[in-house]
Amino acid sequence: MRSFTTRELALNTARIAASYPAFAARSYAPRGAVRAYQLALLQRLVTRAYERVPIYTEKYRAAGVHPRDLRALDDLPRFPAVTKRELLDAGDGALARGLSPSELLVSKSSGSTGVVLDVVHRASDVAIQGLAMNRLLSMYGAYLPWHRLVYVYTSEYPARSLWGLYPMTLVPTLWPVERLAARLRELGPEWLACYPSHLRALADELGPRGARALGLRAISVSSEQSSQAERGALARAFGCGVYDEYSTEELTRVAAQCPRGTYHLFEDVTLVEIIDPESGAPVPAGTRGEVVGTYLHNHAMPFIRYRQGDLARLDETPCACGRTSRALGELAGRKLDRFLLPSGRVLTSGWLLDATYSFLFDVGADLRAFTLTQETRARIVIRVVPGRRFGPRTASEIERRFRELAGEPLDVVVELVDKLPRAAGGKLSPVVSWVV
Ligand SMILES: [Zn+2]
Repeated sequence: MRSFTTRELALNTARIAASYPAFAARSYAPRGAVRAYQLALLQRLVTRAYERVPIYTEKYRAAGVHPRDLRALDDLPRFPAVTKRELLDAGDGALARGLSPSELLVSKSSGSTGVVLDVVHRASDVAIQGLAMNRLLSMYGAYLPWHRLVYVYTSEYPARSLWGLYPMTLVPTLWPVERLAARLRELGPEWLACYPSHLRALADELGPRGARALGLRAISVSSEQSSQAERGALARAFGCGVYDEYSTEELTRVAAQCPRGTYHLFEDVTLVEIIDPESGAPVPAGTRGEVVGTYLHNHAMPFIRYRQGDLARLDETPCACGRTSRALGELAGRKLDRFLLPSGRVLTSGWLLDATYSFLFDVGADLRAFTLTQETRARIVIRVVPGRRFGPRTASEIERRFRELAGEPLDVVVELVDKLPRAAGGKLSPVVSWVV
């Protein structure tokens, strides 16, 4: 992603400053006020998309709906959803007409499917992302202007700071862990954002004393699955909270864990619906289904009722932290990343991660990292980077324990490797199924 021009940075900073008080208050605002705000943004987005973005003009005409039919949030399911495939096929038809290439920021969405979509934003109109970043870190303590954030990511944000305040430093995902550790010791950041796999490697590299000596205030992990038990263990290692965040390149920041562990939606950033993956109909709160998101702020390349492909349920139970935003529960990652067993039983990626993590404790296996790959319905390969105390019988114990947990005959193989393969963009998927 390119950097902001001075003008773009000035425009975004001015918007951040102007919107900050209302944005900060909205996490605690009454539901009715938030819904009214969502509706206003949504009506503007749908109207502009219908007028200027060919794929939406065509889709809405074909479905016989018009932006004026959107009188309440409950009208939204009448508008057709859109998939990544459709946006890829639409090419420039997924973009608003009349954009000049020089005003755009382009990022890439890959995901576990390996299909890459260019995600386009107007560079002068991304203040919301600065606000959302501020909200994320402020959940875990006071985020002060001189605090430094180090983020491990595929590409640099368009700004390294806001005029010297809120400095942010990129460490590329593909750097070796020793180099990441050295950079963290050198910079001494208050905040760290990275993938869980990097944090595991970092904890291993630094050891408990070295991890605590970094003096981090909190760590935000995202992009890959991690379990609560594992984040708890990492939090103890680093001596600070480790919280999961759910974000995507297309929808930006969707939800993040509060200090109580609840995945609060960023309702004023992205509007989330949960639908039945087969029928496309909305499912009631508490029922698991597919995440469909509308990013309320991108008019250059709108994502309206975008089928993200992840599974979750909406949770409307009030959270003890006092935030009024709804929450996501049972966030289970990509649809593919679950195992459909020969009996028809489904092991979700969340279950698999929690189970694997706990059985590693049961077995006492010393592992640096692992991945689970379902190669066929009945064959599971567990790739393991063994630690120093990995015993000669540990592999067969892991195989036996996994079969026992799955509760049905499976061909389980443990392979010892030096290094786990990363997908494009440096992501490491701990749970992958090749069974379609
Ligand atoms: Zn909460």
